[in-house]
Amino acid sequence: MAQNEKINPFEMAKKQVDIVAKYLNLDSGSIEKLKNTKRELIVHFPVQMDDGKLKIFTGYRVQHNVARGPAKGGIRYHPDVDLDEVRALAMWMTWKSAVVKIPFGGAKGGVQCNPKEMSLHEIEHLTRRFTWEISMMLGPEQDIPAPDVNTNPQVMAWIMDTFSILKGYSVPGVVTGKPIELGGSLGRFEATGRGVVITSLEALKYLKIPIEGAKVAIQGCGNVGGIAAMHFDRLGAKVIAISDSQKGLYNENGLDVKRALEYKAKYKCFVCETKNETEITNQELLELKCDVLVPAAIESQIIEKNAPRIKAKIIAEGANGPTTPEADEILNDKGVFIVPDILANGGGVTVSYFEWVQNLQELIWSEEEVLDRLTRIMQRGFKEVLDISLSKKIPMRAAALVLGIGRVAEASRLRGLYP
Ligand code: NAD
Repeated sequence: MAQNEKINPFEMAKKQVDIVAKYLNLDSGSIEKLKNTKRELIVHFPVQMDDGKLKIFTGYRVQHNVARGPAKGGIRYHPDVDLDEVRALAMWMTWKSAVVKIPFGGAKGGVQCNPKEMSLHEIEHLTRRFTWEISMMLGPEQDIPAPDVNTNPQVMAWIMDTFSILKGYSVPGVVTGKPIELGGSLGRFEATGRGVVITSLEALKYLKIPIEGAKVAIQGCGNVGGIAAMHFDRLGAKVIAISDSQKGLYNENGLDVKRALEYKAKYKCFVCETKNETEITNQELLELKCDVLVPAAIESQIIEKNAPRIKAKIIAEGANGPTTPEADEILNDKGVFIVPDILANGGGVTVSYFEWVQNLQELIWSEEEVLDRLTRIMQRGFKEVLDISLSKKIPMRAAALVLGIGRVAEASRLRGLYP
C-alpha cells in the first residue's frame, strides 16, 4: 500500500460506478445490482506443511456478474487478500471483459498466504485443496480461473489436474494460463504485458509521441510488468526504471532490461551493476519524469497524496485498481492521459478467451494468429473508449466504464428478470 494509507478497493470500485452512473441512463435498482456481487464463497481449509503440522488458510471465490457469459478471473496468493479486495477485482473483471467485447462475466479468487515463505510442495497442497473447496463454483461453462499475483502456469496446471480428478476426465477448459503442454495457448503468458504495450502505443500515437526513445517507468516486474518492459525495450523505448516489491533500478538513459530481469530472476532482487544505475524506491519510481508510467504491481499505488507529484504524460495501468478515484481527479486536472486498467490490461482475459475457445474446440492456434487477433481487439477497445471520451468529453477511465458497464447492463436488460 502506498504511503501506509488503507484504501478499501471494493468501496473504490463502487465509487467508480457512481461517478459514471449519470452517463448510463439506468434506474437506481439496476445500478445497485451492478454494484453488488452475485456469489461469494469463503473457505477455511487445512494444509499439511512440510514440518508435518496443519495450517489453516482462508480463501475466497467471488463471481460478480455472469450476464455476458461464464465468470472469469484470476486467483491471487498474497498475505493482504481479503473479501473486499476479491470483490473489487471480480467487478473490474466484469467491466474489462465487456470493454474488450469478450463473452465472459467477472470473477476473482484469492488465498491469504505468503507463497514466498512456502515450499513448492506446500503451494501445491494449498492449490489442490483450495481447488477442491471451491470446485462447486468452477467449470468451463461456469467459472474459469487464471493466474494473478503470485500464481503462474504451474499453479493453473494443479487446478486443472485437481478439477479433472474430481470429474473423472480431463477438463482443460476449467482454467486458462495453463502450460502449453496441457492445452495452454501460445501467447497467453505474454498477453497482458503485450496488451499494455499495444494500448500504450495507441496512446503515444494519439499524443504524437514517438515510441523510439520514449521514456517508460514500470512498477512491478512480474508477468505483466516484466513482459511489458521487454516489449517496450524491443520497440525502441527507453525503460528508465523497473521495480519489485522491495525496490527499483533507475537509469535515465535506459536500463539494460534483459540483464536486469535475468539478474532479478537469478538473485531474487535488483542490484545496480553499472555506475549509471541507481536504486530507487517504489514511490520515487512512480514520480519520475517519463512519457509512460506503467503501474504493474497491486492496487492503490497512485493516491491523493502522491498524485500531484506524478510527472508522467501517460499512465497505462497494467495492475488492477492502481489509481484511486481521488487521485484520478488530480491527474485529470493535470492533463495526464490514463489508459485505465479495464482497457490496458485486457490482453490477459482476451487471450484467456482464445485459450478457452481452443480447449472447447480441441484446436491449436499459431502464436501469430493469437497475437494478430489480440492486437486487433486491443486496438478496437482503445478506439471505442477514446471515441466515447472525445464525444462525451469525459476522461478515458469514465469512458471505459461507460462502455463496459453499458454493455453489461444491456445484456442484463435483454435477459430480463427471473422469476
Ligand atoms: P506477479 O506476481 O507476476 O508480479 C507482481 C509484481 O509486483 C512483482 O514484481 C512484485 O514484486 C511486485 N509487487 C508486489 N507487491 C508490490 C508492492 N507493494 N509494491 C511494488 N511492487 C510490488 O503478478 P502479475 O500477474 O504481474 O500481476 C500484476 C498486476 O497485474 C496485478 O494487479 C494483477 O491483478 C494485474 N493483472 C494481471 C494479469 C495477468 O494476466 N497476470 C491480467 C490482468 C491484470
